[in-house]
Amino acid sequence: MTQTFRTLDDVDVKGKRVLLRVDLNVPMENGRVTDTTRLERVSPTIAEISGKGGKVILLAHLGRPKGRDPKESLKPVADALSQVMGKPVRFAEDCVGDVAQKAVAAMKDGDILCLENTRFHKEEEKNDPAFVDELAKLGDIWVNDAFSAAHRAHASTEGLGHKLPAYAGRTMQAELDALGKALESPTKPVIAIIGGAKVSTKIDLLQNLVSKVDALVIGGGMANTFLHAQGVGIGKSLAEKELAATALRIIEKADAANCAIILPVDAVVAYHFSANAPSHAYGLDAIPVEGMILDVGPQSIARIHAAIDDAATLVWNGPLGAFEMTPFDHGTVAAARHAAERTKARKLVSVAGGGDTVAALNQAGVAGDFTYVSTAGGAFLEWMEGKPLPGVQVLRNR
Ligand code: AMP
Repeated sequence: MTQTFRTLDDVDVKGKRVLLRVDLNVPMENGRVTDTTRLERVSPTIAEISGKGGKVILLAHLGRPKGRDPKESLKPVADALSQVMGKPVRFAEDCVGDVAQKAVAAMKDGDILCLENTRFHKEEEKNDPAFVDELAKLGDIWVNDAFSAAHRAHASTEGLGHKLPAYAGRTMQAELDALGKALESPTKPVIAIIGGAKVSTKIDLLQNLVSKVDALVIGGGMANTFLHAQGVGIGKSLAEKELAATALRIIEKADAANCAIILPVDAVVAYHFSANAPSHAYGLDAIPVEGMILDVGPQSIARIHAAIDDAATLVWNGPLGAFEMTPFDHGTVAAARHAAERTKARKLVSVAGGGDTVAALNQAGVAGDFTYVSTAGGAFLEWMEGKPLPGVQVLRNR
């Protein structure tokens, strides 16, 4: 997949004004950055371009402002980035117009400049051609390093790729590499583990996966809908009973595509949706009518481990239970640790992504042991759904 993209290996950035789209959408509290993970992810690309004598002009959004809003200024993020990089990061209070043009004109080779939140202009999300032209004036080339925003065709995430020579940054390149190894040209057999609360948010994803993977583990609240559809009594568990027919169709599609569906065979049940609520494991024929399934049971965990052992590649999205509450994190943590062990033993390529999944892997203490963990939320899900991502399409060699 990567060889069909232009990367920083295909361009000499020295002396060039490089418009670099990055993900600076970091969590903030009282005007301070509370988690610098995303800044650490993009800093190698910035350092590389700056080190090679390019002028690095950062484009990014923060939050969902409606017009200019000081609470969503990128100024404190630029300061935090400067700290992470150990280099000055200058800031311009607009991403287009006089202010931006003057700030860019004052740059020397190797300088880093962060422009204000692109979403302060409503034209950004409209991919407005005149706004794209204004942005394009500021640069000689465009480098997209924001996979997490690549499912949006906005001016700074897609439009610029039609106006300027376009390249994937190193973070984007690593992401595309990892995702390519997981679903596009994976080592078989491939297993997917899909959990989370609801079937309704993941129908497209499940339908795409059953045609691509050899085995699909379904866990979490969404497994309850499948179990109910198969006639299992699930008591008061979270489920979308109206989607029973959809669940059965997904199972049929999997059968036709030779994809094994692995559903829980037992479940941990409690009577309250709260941490440390008294709980007990039951077989599927004995789920109490007043009970709620909050995690997969021990026999299910053993089956999932065996299925992971049979696989060469794993793609994972969504927790297997209500992992925010002990002890209902047990199934997720056990499967995550098992996948991490197999990865460390070089038996498995493991790729995981999506907001809650990253939190769950961190909780299990194994995020660093997976082959690749994507911090992109929506973009990762759309990729799993098999949809073309506009911000990636525009980087393809034409
Ligand atoms: P999602 O955002 O779709 O990946 O769903 C993640 C959420 O699903 C987490 O907040 C989990 O607590 C929740 N979840 C997973 N399994 C269950 C379950 N059996 N019952 C209720 N909630 C669950």
